[in-house]
Amino acid sequence: MSQTGQMQANPRASRTNLEDALNANVWDVDESPHIEVDTEKCVTCKTRPCISFCPAHCFTLLGEKMLYSYEGCLECGTCRVVCPAKEITWKYPLSGRGVQYRF
Ligand code: SF4
Repeated sequence: MSQTGQMQANPRASRTNLEDALNANVWDVDESPHIEVDTEKCVTCKTRPCISFCPAHCFTLLGEKMLYSYEGCLECGTCRVVCPAKEITWKYPLSGRGVQYRF
């Protein structure tokens, strides 16, 4: 409520779900990847949890080959934690680069 006693519209009220909120983000992508994966190790990985757990869908399989991108990364660090082979090298993008949350 405002000081005059009137309700004010919540600017986020029109967002109906997480996907809508994530779509409002913007990225200043660094040319240098902040994620590197030894994809040779992914070939023998039985579970490949990075595919399921990455909220930005940065990991995908093409046949048996693991493909990944870093441009839409949300910088949550989940892939580094869940990789059973610990073959993901992860660091934050250079200062000021990467995702800029808009919620
Ligand atoms: Fe996906 Fe998070 Fe890893 Fe980025 S840090 S690739 S969003 S799991």
